[in-house]
Amino acid sequence: MTTYNDLWLIGIAWRLDRLRWAPTQLLGDCVRGNGLCMREFPAEPAWQDQRLTDRELAGAMCQGCRVADECLELEFRTGGADTVGVWGGMSADDRRELHPHWLRRGERAERGVDR
Ligand code: SF4
Repeated sequence: MTTYNDLWLIGIAWRLDRLRWAPTQLLGDCVRGNGLCMREFPAEPAWQDQRLTDRELAGAMCQGCRVADECLELEFRTGGADTVGVWGGMSADDRRELHPHWLRRGERAERGVDR
């Protein structure tokens, strides 16, 4: 049975599919040059002392980052499913759940199947 969480993850995987043919080097340059945490991150962010879940922390850290999709795509390509920390606006647990959907995204698109 497909859950709401599955649909959310499938939607992200499909969104990332637009980056499928972008060279990894280009993604890296894009994230390093434009990532919010790479450029404008405050030394003491407002959420620093708050008790947040990993998902909430990911949302707070990456909110407004213009290259979150590129960051997520890059993380999957270079680190795979089992990296730690916040990348691409997602917690490690959420990325681990997203990874199988990410691997199947093109296959789905090519077959026209929405599962
Ligand atoms: S998505 Fe988050 S971790 Fe990635 S570059 Fe942007 S702020 Fe940094």
